[in-house]
Amino acid sequence: MVDAARPDEHAIERAAACLRSGGLVAFPTETVYGLGAHALDREAVRRLFEVKERPAHDPLIVHVAGLADVAPLTAGVPQVASTLAARFWPGPLTLVLRRAPIVPPEVTAGLDTVAIRVPAHPVARALLLAARIPVAAPSANLFSRPSPTRASHVMDDLAGRIDMVVDAGATGVGVESTVLDLTTDPPTVLRPGAVSVEDLRCVLPDVRLREAPRGQVLPSPGLLEQHYAPRTPLTLYRGEAGAVLTALRREAETARAGGRRVGVLGTRETVAALHATAAAVADLGPETDAGQVASRLYAALRELDAAGLDAILAADVAHDHGLWRAVRDRLQRASTEVIRVS
Ligand code: AMP
Ligand code: MG
Repeated sequence: MVDAARPDEHAIERAAACLRSGGLVAFPTETVYGLGAHALDREAVRRLFEVKERPAHDPLIVHVAGLADVAPLTAGVPQVASTLAARFWPGPLTLVLRRAPIVPPEVTAGLDTVAIRVPAHPVARALLLAARIPVAAPSANLFSRPSPTRASHVMDDLAGRIDMVVDAGATGVGVESTVLDLTTDPPTVLRPGAVSVEDLRCVLPDVRLREAPRGQVLPSPGLLEQHYAPRTPLTLYRGEAGAVLTALRREAETARAGGRRVGVLGTRETVAALHATAAAVADLGPETDAGQVASRLYAALRELDAAGLDAILAADVAHDHGLWRAVRDRLQRASTEVIRVS
């Protein structure tokens, strides 16, 4: 365990040396725990895909210590990238840029673009500064499982498969970075995340939000419909708050009467009335606090998944602005079914 604000230098140096020599190191970022590999070491990157059981067509985000480290990985840094970096880096914004040949195709899944970000977490920053290499780091979970927000989540998925975990406690934001494609005109948000579309529009008024049409080839595999998902089937209830609560209560009662164990997941206001009926309840926090709801989401999904349930019933969040958009997006991807109620 290292101090999240001022990590021990020796621990960081050991982790950095491990990365430089081709090892796989899990470390906290401000969003979720990442699993790092030397981004220019094809063998290390191949092993990273293998241990995560991640399909080769899902590209990785390359993490660097600062904007100055971006140019060598790209075919050029457009002015808009520098402007965004000045405003949002270090921080949870990933920029998709044209790739330089030095970046192995394994990292980018053969695309001619590369996704890059400068993380803000003091441990991630210290590690990147010490390693002095670009670090490819997807979330440190098994592919398609909920992302890890604690070192114990990393161990649950990857113990025995990776070389080191730098444990600095729970991550802050709890959902992944916003992925912004700067190779389209206007730029496109491929994955909503911790930097909101509204924040981006202050700098880039014409930024587009990509809605994933069903069945179409996806330019960003984070847009796979089922992703970040628990193993237990999850049904997401969407609609007016009172109608959602009625539907959840009815489903939970029916399940209990039939001897089936269901868990419910939602904001405090929604789940408060269901403690007596459901076999398990995950309270994400007050519906006025997107930050708390986002930071609890993945741990809550993992807890319910470990509770031996037949099904999870989730209430969709009521808002679609700011960080709520990312929460709604992840809830949708965690679900096997979405039911609209009115
Ligand atoms: P993860 O690090 O596991 O959250 O996943 C990284 C995600 O970043 C991928 O699933 C993609 O959605 C996105 N990404 C990475 N590289 C690219 C790229 N070159 N073009 C578009 N999206 C990318
Ligand atoms: Mg991931």
